[in-house]
Amino acid sequence: AHLDRIEAVDGDVRAFLHVDADGALAAAAAVDERRAAGEALGPLAGVPVAVKDNIATLGLPTTAGSRILEGWVPPYDATVVEKLRAGDLVVLGKTNLDEFAMGSSTEHSAFGATRNPWDLERIPGGSGGGSAAAVAAFEAPLALGTDTGGSIRQPASVTGTVGVKPTYGGVSRYGALALASSLDQIGPAARTVLDTALLHDVLGGHDPRDATSLPDPWPSFAEAARAGALDGAVDGLRIGVPRAIATGEGFESGVTERFTEALDALEARGATVTWIDTPHFAYAVAAYYLIMPAEASSNLARYDSVRYGLRSEVAGNPTVERVMSATRAAGFGDEAKRRILLGTYALSAGYYDAFYGSAQKVRTLVQRDFADAFAQVDVLAAPTSPSVAWKLGARVDDPTAVYVADLTTIPANLAGVPGISVPGGLADGLPVGIQFMAAARDDARLYTVGAALE
Ligand code: GLN
Repeated sequence: AHLDRIEAVDGDVRAFLHVDADGALAAAAAVDERRAAGEALGPLAGVPVAVKDNIATLGLPTTAGSRILEGWVPPYDATVVEKLRAGDLVVLGKTNLDEFAMGSSTEHSAFGATRNPWDLERIPGGSGGGSAAAVAAFEAPLALGTDTGGSIRQPASVTGTVGVKPTYGGVSRYGALALASSLDQIGPAARTVLDTALLHDVLGGHDPRDATSLPDPWPSFAEAARAGALDGAVDGLRIGVPRAIATGEGFESGVTERFTEALDALEARGATVTWIDTPHFAYAVAAYYLIMPAEASSNLARYDSVRYGLRSEVAGNPTVERVMSATRAAGFGDEAKRRILLGTYALSAGYYDAFYGSAQKVRTLVQRDFADAFAQVDVLAAPTSPSVAWKLGARVDDPTAVYVADLTTIPANLAGVPGISVPGGLADGLPVGIQFMAAARDDARLYTVGAALE
């Protein structure tokens, strides 16, 4: 049914870069057989799932939305993909993204933009617009994303779906094509909080192949989501609203209205709401756009024309350096080049302390703001994005305006804390997302609060 749905709508939505119909049907048939044989299967056995194309899939092309990886077929599965297969889920295919997950609109994919199923003239968010659009358009019930600065939560927000960035280290990054390693986090996307939680239960847990993977066991997120549907689920819950990322310039009035209604609804059910100051959040975007390009410029150095994907022909004397330079010039798009330049500049001798060093100090201050906040409240709430989905093309010439709009999602990445985006109704017929953040390792609480609002 999902393959039929993809066939029917993906020509318009363009959520998928690669659909593995044969593989999906074979995997589904194998699950059916085992079910018929009376084998015990996982709770998501047979459920199709779409995988963002910056996560390695054995035998299936993985491009990260970039020409530089065209033709590369990974010889291994990312840990999360192994876990999907071990949990008997059915991998449908790979979803579109901004090149190497840099962007907020999916327009920076080398393979063309994905459309928002709510309005095909609008962006589906980014970088994981493909995963969010696939879920919103009923092409897949579940999807995987990566969130370095909001790429799971913001697409969820503008497509009326649910997206979660787990605690840093909560889900293995092994096999995720690294963008900014200290910020990157794989997480689940779906149409309901419970579905997202069920997928997170499959993905989570320690992985010795990821040095930053947390060793601790996790509670059942599905149970936490189910608890959110019960009476009294948020009774006594202390919600803090960081003023700096909930109001001000750029917040559309429809977004503010839906956010205020969400807070009122939770208050009516026994939660308390306090506005709080997080003095360093104001600098989070500036710090992020130094740290993220710095790490990205280093991670993307591996695309050297020798190890992966594209290799450009060079006339005359094809030295390693000339081939590498021609390949990178042809293989990377404008946004990737912009960030490689920003990052190498920020890391260069003489500027390192002024830029990268200062940004790391700001990062520590943002982490302290979170620690102070979580000493007073249980969760933080803010709009997931200051705006609803904008028109395709409307912001492509103004990267800074797009970067600034990441202010709501970036603090969680800088601090490594978990965040969820849940649908909060419509403004002018377009979805608005409500975001909750919790202290590190407190992901379960987000599923309870998210389900309560749902
Ligand atoms: N908008 C963010 C950026 O462009 C999103 C990055 C991400 O989460 N992958 O960096």
